[in-house]
Amino acid sequence: MTGSAAPWNYAPAPESTKVELKERYGLYIDGSFRDPVAGQFFETINPATEAPLARIAIADRQDVDNAVAAARKALKAWRRTPAIERAKYLFRIARRVQERARELAVLETMNNGKPIRETRDEDVPLAAAHFFHHAGWCDKLRFAFPTRDGTPPAPVGVCGQIIPWNFPLLMAAWKIAPALACGNTVVLKPAETTSLTALRLAEILQEIDLPPGVVNIVTGAGETGKAIVAHGDIDKIAFTGSTEVGRSIAASVAGTSKRLTLELGGKSPNIIFADAAIDQAIEGVVSAIWANQGQVCCAGSRLLVEESVADEVISKLHHRMRSLRVGDPLDKNTDVGAINSRAQLDRVERYIKCGVAEGASYNAFTEGSLPKKGFWVRPCFFTGVQPAHTIAREEIFGPVLAVMTFRTPDEAVARANNTMYGLSAGVWTSRGSKAYEIAKQIKAGVIWCNTFNQFDPAAPFGGYRESGFGREGGRAGLAAYLA
Ligand code: NAP
Ligand code: MG
Repeated sequence: MTGSAAPWNYAPAPESTKVELKERYGLYIDGSFRDPVAGQFFETINPATEAPLARIAIADRQDVDNAVAAARKALKAWRRTPAIERAKYLFRIARRVQERARELAVLETMNNGKPIRETRDEDVPLAAAHFFHHAGWCDKLRFAFPTRDGTPPAPVGVCGQIIPWNFPLLMAAWKIAPALACGNTVVLKPAETTSLTALRLAEILQEIDLPPGVVNIVTGAGETGKAIVAHGDIDKIAFTGSTEVGRSIAASVAGTSKRLTLELGGKSPNIIFADAAIDQAIEGVVSAIWANQGQVCCAGSRLLVEESVADEVISKLHHRMRSLRVGDPLDKNTDVGAINSRAQLDRVERYIKCGVAEGASYNAFTEGSLPKKGFWVRPCFFTGVQPAHTIAREEIFGPVLAVMTFRTPDEAVARANNTMYGLSAGVWTSRGSKAYEIAKQIKAGVIWCNTFNQFDPAAPFGGYRESGFGREGGRAGLAAYLA
């Protein structure tokens, strides 16, 4: 596998960036866009070029108050809207997301840095699928959640939803679709660095005539999120993001009547047994750790390989890594794009230095040079990693893989569970009984067998231990939005 892989010079295949961008975006409250009370805005940029894209409103406590008041007012009528009518709104959102798919994919790539191939083929279609799926649920809730008197189950009320920057539109869909299907109203805060697609979704909500106040979108930084969490008239908080912020939210909600679901970080194991289809497993590793530059809460960031095939796996992984195409995220050939922010890049680089300092061996993608502007890091993996190493324990949230080996299935399970997290896991084996036995013993919310990072709106997704609690997707996900 060593030999020199000739660099294949593809012709650039850039997607057109012709999408409408306003110079500045207000807050989406009570069905229309308005300037924030204090008149403050911040600049949002393209992380692949550092070019400014637009200015985004900063919502302070007064704005959050207005958004919550709009959601409270809208709740009265929305929860009484016949389920079949609510379903029509969700269907319309789904159809409109599909119709405006190209524009949403381009905007997402420009604001997030992830490859257009991913936003076009995964983020946007999955977001639409989430609305379609939940549209179908609206008039069937009473069968899945029967009440004593046969009436439809009641919504929780006004939901504060706070989402991260790694899947901006998809996370908005994961949050909004089940909430609306159950008759709740929403105040959603996108992440500071990636507000554009959520704001475009707000335009879609206007286009389909969703009643004002049912969904309110307030932009800003952590302080805006804090104001939502602390608000006295919110019935439920749904948060996706770091374990650290999740902990602080849990502490601030404790002792109130607010309901809470948390989708937090992970350090998920991806286990390859000697009897696995190795080439297929390598592709699984690529999608587990290099898709979305590894900025995925359920990334398979710890690769556990059975010792007898470790050399083969590592050499094939090296070969595969060299064939990645790293660069312009808007190029349709690109596999790995830019890191979302300078802060995240600094964090990833700190971990890489730490891995080297602790004595693990660093293997990085070395083809070509990285763009001069923007936030770039070479996809990499570490071998010779010990379970006590920082890069084996902490969530990096970047394209950095820690490779470790095991000898027996018991050792694989022990190593896989040797973490404070429990979000996802991958098991690669050609024996179904083994996959089943191993999966049963792994402490994680989602376990994939002979695949990785597969999402379906009908399949519940969520964590265990420090990865949070509550599920999103399917029947389990709806439960969190019903009283
Ligand atoms: P984060 O701070 O947890 O951000 C998640 C969301 O919460 C964002 O909308 C954020 O706003 C908001 N927020 C921040 N502080 C808050 C507070 N005190 N109360 C309420 N909301 C608050 O995550 P991050 O700063 O973007 O990333 C930090 C690290 O978290 C990453 O390096 C990564 O390891 C991890 N992470 C995990 C996930 C995941 O899905 N598990 C997602 C993202 C990040 P702002 O964006 O405006 O700060
Ligand atoms: Mg933050």
